[in-house]
Amino acid sequence: GPGDIHGEVVVLGSGPGGYTAAFRAADLGKKVVLIEKDASLGGVCLNVGCIPSKALLHAAKVITEAEEMGEHGISFAKPKIKLNDLRDWKSSVVNGLTGGLSGLAKARKVHVVNGYGRFSGPNMIEVQTDDGLTKVSFDQCIIAAGSEPVTLPFIPHDDPRVIDSTGALELEDIPKRLLVLGGGIIGLEMATVYDALGSKVTIVEFMDQIIPGADKDIVKPLHKRIEGRYEAILTKTKVTAVEAQKKGLKVTMEGPDGEKTDTFDKVLVAVGRKPNGKTVDAEKAGVAVDDRGFINVDNQQRTGVAHIFAIGDVVGQPMLAHKAVHEGKVAAEVAAGEKRFFDARVIPSVAYTDPEVAWVGLTETEAKAQGIKVGKGSFPWAASGRSLSLGRSEGITKLIFDEEDDRVIGAGIVGPNAGDLIAEVALAIEMGADAVDLGHTIHPHPTLSETVNFAAEMFEGTITDLM
Ligand code: FAD
Repeated sequence: GPGDIHGEVVVLGSGPGGYTAAFRAADLGKKVVLIEKDASLGGVCLNVGCIPSKALLHAAKVITEAEEMGEHGISFAKPKIKLNDLRDWKSSVVNGLTGGLSGLAKARKVHVVNGYGRFSGPNMIEVQTDDGLTKVSFDQCIIAAGSEPVTLPFIPHDDPRVIDSTGALELEDIPKRLLVLGGGIIGLEMATVYDALGSKVTIVEFMDQIIPGADKDIVKPLHKRIEGRYEAILTKTKVTAVEAQKKGLKVTMEGPDGEKTDTFDKVLVAVGRKPNGKTVDAEKAGVAVDDRGFINVDNQQRTGVAHIFAIGDVVGQPMLAHKAVHEGKVAAEVAAGEKRFFDARVIPSVAYTDPEVAWVGLTETEAKAQGIKVGKGSFPWAASGRSLSLGRSEGITKLIFDEEDDRVIGAGIVGPNAGDLIAEVALAIEMGADAVDLGHTIHPHPTLSETVNFAAEMFEGTITDLM
């Protein structure tokens, strides 16, 4: 009908996976249509994820660093927080990036269709736009519909005092007492922000440690630091009920010491994200979606239907932007006829808390469970001149080696800027580097990057003095 559109490659969802795939396919000469339900491009990551959270974490860092300089001879007055201005600044960072994406789409002649898309057949998506239904037919399609926060049946999510990460980033107010349900990356990053802004934070985590994916020794310095700042960190504890009362949210929890109740001004629910596989009617195109909502793909990002690909959060863990981007490139290149595979050895993970916690490849726990002869080099930042000159000494850089060939197979780093430091180890693992490669590469002094160098030397036993 009139207004109907055809794309050689149609991408459903404009997050980091989707826009990367759309741009790459267009660069390879394909006529591309990009479907997005939200007003701006960029998905969760740019609008309500990676980017706004990092802007607020920067503000948090400025506040806590200023506080702590008080012990080193420079005192500042208590910060005056103008929440409206802080929110505006965060939004301007986001808008700069999402606006940039629109420009990049235009420059590549990527046709953006704004509306909610659902498959109606193996070569058709119907998009509910403001002007009615638009039919978008395709030769090939890339599903990049992302994920959404998990909700829990015993929590009154419609109460405005119950928020998810999107609500937390809206920065409506600074609650006096905030309960963060979930001690994973997202919950802890938001806790970092609200703690700096003045909230009294309590973390509740079901597992026996916060950030359960990383090694305990790497998480410990973070735990220790926030334990001193927050009201409580309750591990091995689960929330069993949240009751909306006039004076606050009454929360019932069960932990090692039994059941207890407490009342909070706000509850942030950060217990994971669920993929959007079930919300796009993929089955109508013949694409299988599993019970949890994930779409299975092969190492070329193809679903069971050869001309339909899927990428990003909707295909599985880890739900991270850099994974989505990498998969987006693979899918677009395969769609354009190139022989490409997803063959990355490792995907780094980072919690941008204070201190940051980063890990890549096998954790020590995983390597041991796999029966690998594990060797390790662990360097305490208390011996790093640069770390001490930042007023911090709690960091650790730990490298995991396979004793058989001394190759590095994993790393865990905790400390300021750990997220930047982990990239070097990711490269080392991709290149098959061994301890000598890392130990003999001259790193600039004095930087935190030296700790990777020193950790390799610790493993080799060649370190002579600590600085
Ligand atoms: P998304 O970014 O989820 O994008 C999917 C898009 O598809 C959305 O724009 C959605 O509106 C659209 N869509 C869905 N269904 C339809 C439909 N039917 N029709 C039309 N459009 C549709 N990852 C990191 O790597 N680093 C971080 O620092 C980081 N921080 C985060 C902080 C927070 C608070 C959160 C929530 C997440 C964070 N993540 C981070 C995770 C990261 O945001 C995701 O992994 C990433 O956005 C996934 O990209 P994607 O392309 O798969 O999907």
